[in-house]
Amino acid sequence: MRIRFAGVRGSWPRTAPRFARYGGDTTCLEVTPREGPPVFVDAGTGITAAAEQLPRPGGELLLLLTHAHHDHLQGFPSLGPLYEPGWRLTVAAPEFVPAEAAVRKLMEPPLWPLGLDALRSAVAFRRLPAAFAWGSLEIRHHAVAHPGGCAAYRLDESGGGSLVFATDIEWGTWDDAGRAAFARFCREPRPVDLLIMDGQFTDDEIAARRGWGHSSLGECAAAARAGGAGRLLTTHHSPERDDAAMAAVEAALAGLLPGAAAARQGQVLEL
Ligand SMILES: [Zn+2]
Ligand SMILES: [Zn+2]
Repeated sequence: MRIRFAGVRGSWPRTAPRFARYGGDTTCLEVTPREGPPVFVDAGTGITAAAEQLPRPGGELLLLLTHAHHDHLQGFPSLGPLYEPGWRLTVAAPEFVPAEAAVRKLMEPPLWPLGLDALRSAVAFRRLPAAFAWGSLEIRHHAVAHPGGCAAYRLDESGGGSLVFATDIEWGTWDDAGRAAFARFCREPRPVDLLIMDGQFTDDEIAARRGWGHSSLGECAAAARAGGAGRLLTTHHSPERDDAAMAAVEAALAGLLPGAAAARQGQVLEL
């Protein structure tokens, strides 16, 4: 599969030039499987430009939602394929994520002029089973610690690579059993190639941010070690950290776990 980081900024978007190198759009990961239609994980503002690049005319799309917080959904109304005939979008999440209710609420007056029924595309909602096949991908999920709940996703490609996408996770509120269960999610059926994890805060900042639903860089390194991940990329970067500050925390991260880095908007990886 090919993955592209379409948005890596946490909490709210930043458009100023001093955020451009790491990127200012909120969470969206684009996954192109070897076989089957494209997948987006979350509909932060990064989904808008990513969807403009999709081949036309329309086709099938899958949108996996981790949870319904604004920064993971605020790109949904500007998702171009919604307004073009020929697209069929499936919005999918586990039952503990209120995906359909949140999307419907966002796409109706007074928040938006056009309801889902007025769109030119076809939008369907699906509650994800424990394991779900989409083209060459097998998709599984795991509930993570976050206010209101959030799903981490694991994507395994048959004969190919694997990733765990764990944004909006507060590692520090989990007990040993919670951490062990997440480690198993990363290790089974085989140690994951790439862990993408919420590293919004530094280890100095996290004590004053407990209960906000995010992890520190040191906690990301601990999770990657526990999960046996081949590589760690952090995401959900603090919207208060510009490029110079991001470069400093990224250097610190590499000291915590060799090879670890901060994901950048536009970064493409083959797994
Ligand atoms: Zn978030
Ligand atoms: Zn959140």
